[in-house]
Amino acid sequence: MSREPIDYADVVIVGAGLSGVGAACQLRTACPSKSVTVLEAREAVGGTWDLFRYPGIRSDSDMFTLGYRFRPWTDPKAIADGPAILRYIHDTAHQFDVHRLIRLHHRVVSASWDSRECRWTVQVHRSDTDQHVSLSCAFLYVCSGYYRYDQGFSPSFPGVEQFAGPVIHPQHWPRDLDYTGKRVVVIGSGATAVTLVPSLAKSASHVTMLQRSPSYVAARPAHDPVADWLRARLPQKLAYTLVRWKNALLGIAFFNLSRRRPELVKSMLRNATVKQLPADYAIDTHFAPSYNPWDQRMCLVPDGDLFAAIRDGRASIVTDQIDTFTPTGIRLRSGAHLDADIVVSATGLNMLAIGGIRLQVDGHDVDLAQSVSYKGMMLSGVPNFAWTVGYTNASWTLKADLVAEYVCRLLQHMDRYHYASVTPDATGTTAANPFLDLTSGYVRRSLAGLPKQGERAPWRLHQNYVKDVRLLRRGRLDDGVIFTPASSVWSNADTARRG
Ligand SMILES: Cc1cc2nc3c(=O)[nH]c(=O)nc-3n(C[C@H](O)[C@H](O)[C@H](O)COP(=O)(O)OP(=O)(O)OC[C@H]3O[C@@H](n4cnc5c(N)ncnc54)[C@H](O)[C@@H]3O)c2cc1C
Repeated sequence: MSREPIDYADVVIVGAGLSGVGAACQLRTACPSKSVTVLEAREAVGGTWDLFRYPGIRSDSDMFTLGYRFRPWTDPKAIADGPAILRYIHDTAHQFDVHRLIRLHHRVVSASWDSRECRWTVQVHRSDTDQHVSLSCAFLYVCSGYYRYDQGFSPSFPGVEQFAGPVIHPQHWPRDLDYTGKRVVVIGSGATAVTLVPSLAKSASHVTMLQRSPSYVAARPAHDPVADWLRARLPQKLAYTLVRWKNALLGIAFFNLSRRRPELVKSMLRNATVKQLPADYAIDTHFAPSYNPWDQRMCLVPDGDLFAAIRDGRASIVTDQIDTFTPTGIRLRSGAHLDADIVVSATGLNMLAIGGIRLQVDGHDVDLAQSVSYKGMMLSGVPNFAWTVGYTNASWTLKADLVAEYVCRLLQHMDRYHYASVTPDATGTTAANPFLDLTSGYVRRSLAGLPKQGERAPWRLHQNYVKDVRLLRRGRLDDGVIFTPASSVWSNADTARRG
């Protein structure tokens, strides 16, 4: 019997979204001798930017930081729509010739590490043939995003079965939904709700955003004038690098100011909102959250489109709670009734760590909740494993790119010193802090199942690009924490034998 399961790759990447495609491009460039396979559960490349098809789908961060460091974003718009981002991912995959490494319809179900072989065995379900297949690899690199693809989060609404119209979750937007001239209620106050409302309001008869509590909403120009100026004068790559750094640093400065002087930032945001809305508008009812700025992700609206829809009377905000659905809409706790033909439940996502993959090390299940996150991208006690989780307070890709750079450096380092495995060792580390420092509902609902973080680097997640550049791009690889058992330091002969 063959010792190798069906197939082998030096690196298996799980997920062909923004992160997985970026990781494959970086590996092909920095580690061209490594064989790489990308396993993607869905029938398409693009992850989030292929899945979400609701009207107006767009980024809420600028594309100079949501784009890859290694491939400039050249479209005129800084806040881009979903199809443009999807095109960018596809074009990048083709430019770096990684599309042929991607196997669609391959959902990774479990992965088990064998310390004697220094190999992962990865179990996969193929949705196209309904077969179970296995692969082996030396390094497992999970780029599975952070939420469940099969089901968005939807609370159980009282009386919803009485409602005569459709109730839709933005994660499963029906292609043929006609909302022209209809009364639409969007439940929610997050990024998806503030994106949907102005977009639906272009052809609906009226759109009401029904929120239990307000979020911070800030207008931002869809075009970045500094970027336009630099792009007109400098070589493309240089202009992109400068704008990327500008936006990353401004983001950090604003986040730090929010944490240090929340009252100041609250009043800055309030003043900006006052300028956008009519004089008698109830700003403090609809735009003054009970939490501080950046305790939850902030909502950005390009060119203030949400405010414009409210000003024009095409959209409105109601801050109240649902008493019950009725056949014709929603009755609120205040006693008011919202008439609706269509209800959209923009109530969020179900978080899912490492794509729901069951991990085992030498026959023992890995309990994520008991593990400690190393540099925000590896797990204590889990060999040859990396996991991409982007920033919660900045563009996801800033971190995803750094993780990919680090994995490339680590693989080069392992080759140089003939290390067959590397494992972060958290012995002696106190790790009582939650993995994510946000109070949003979707984060609170999932924290118990996520790894912990420690007090200081490398066990501390910074959520700060500059600190992570130091730690991941420039930091020492042999830091006394990441260890290699003597049995997995191979001689040249071993290495040659194993290929
Ligand atoms: C509507 C929306 C808007 C967003 N806007 C922004 C924004 O403006 N800025 C920002 O920074 N972030 C934003 N985000 C977060 C966003 O998810 C990231 O920006 C980015 O797209 C994440 O890329 P990813 O490749 O890591 O994950 P995803 O895009 O989620 O892709 C993960 C891929 O992995 C696959 N996968 C998962 N599990 C498995 C498995 N077990 N086996 C095989 N394949 C698997 C999935 O099918 C998917 O294709 C947004 C998220 C949503 C939902």
